[in-house]
Amino acid sequence: MDEFSFINAIKQTTYKQSSLIKGVGDDAAVFRQSGQDIVTAADTFVENIHFSRDTMEPYHIGYRAIAANISDIAAMGSQPAFYLVSIVIPSHWSEQELKQIYSGMRSLANQYHMDLIGGDTVSGQELTISITVIGYVASGKARYRGAARAGDIVFATGTLGDSSAGFQMLTHPGDYKDKEFYITRHRMPTPRISFANSLETLSRVALNDISDGIANEAAEISESSGVSIVLDFTKLPVSRTYHQFSKEKQRAWQLFGGEDYELIGTVANKDWQFVKQAAAETQTSVTEIGYVSEQHNRLVYLQEANCCKPLEKRGYTHLKQVNQDE
Ligand code: ADP
Ligand code: MG
Repeated sequence: MDEFSFINAIKQTTYKQSSLIKGVGDDAAVFRQSGQDIVTAADTFVENIHFSRDTMEPYHIGYRAIAANISDIAAMGSQPAFYLVSIVIPSHWSEQELKQIYSGMRSLANQYHMDLIGGDTVSGQELTISITVIGYVASGKARYRGAARAGDIVFATGTLGDSSAGFQMLTHPGDYKDKEFYITRHRMPTPRISFANSLETLSRVALNDISDGIANEAAEISESSGVSIVLDFTKLPVSRTYHQFSKEKQRAWQLFGGEDYELIGTVANKDWQFVKQAAAETQTSVTEIGYVSEQHNRLVYLQEANCCKPLEKRGYTHLKQVNQDE
């Protein structure tokens, strides 16, 4: 397959963003923006480290890769607009499979009217996809991890642990409840763009997306904000049939399971009603899961059965261990 025909095949014929001046086809893309802040993030996915053909179709590989990037834009309270894709292609990947990866990316990108405006194509040993997203936010309204304050309510969107549960179902076939649901949550996560954007009028909210498990993401907020966070274990939201798994797995996935791409945030008590309203208006579930404490030791505590212990910051690596120790 030659690079030229590949780029032609994945190139958009029309663009949706009115700020775009030059898309794919020159040495660089050009867009013009005034009045808003520009937000950008990048993520790289390597075959057999971040995804595997055993549990993902090429379409899902693309879908999940762009979802992870869009989720970072959501966590900044911003609106995604453009993406660039650099891809390292090993010779055993067919043009058809590569087009499916792009088709997965496009299907989610289209939901947000995003345009593919560039990238790079090279050959190499391991399929590697590196995506850069560019978005906009009203000036001064980007949401930072450092914005949490003592007395805030801590909340999470959606449900936790579903992606790990889906991965378990794919890697350990068996009789499970709501298999489709969990597998879809693993392969095709939903970034919380509309909810995050609906908080725009709030003067202060801390946000982080849950890519490495809530323990890790809460710790990032507590460290950046110089506060401590208390999470109530019994309040962590889970799906209706999540209890079909062992207590140990439920707990590990809820706290340390990655790739749910939900949001964790903190807001002043007085704004909690507004957050709930915004969630309802954007058809997003939101749950109060704890509070920001007066302590300044930058720890995350887990409140559970009258006991409150610091939560260790183990993330994804530990989870792999739990999954292997069956
Ligand atoms: P250059 O040699 O100037 O880097 P390329 O031949 O690499 O140009 O790319 C030509 C055009 O195609 C550029 O607009 C580039 O951004 C785009 N492009 C290249 N590879 C990809 C890709 N994998 N996905 C999306 N756009 C790409
Ligand atoms: Mg190039």
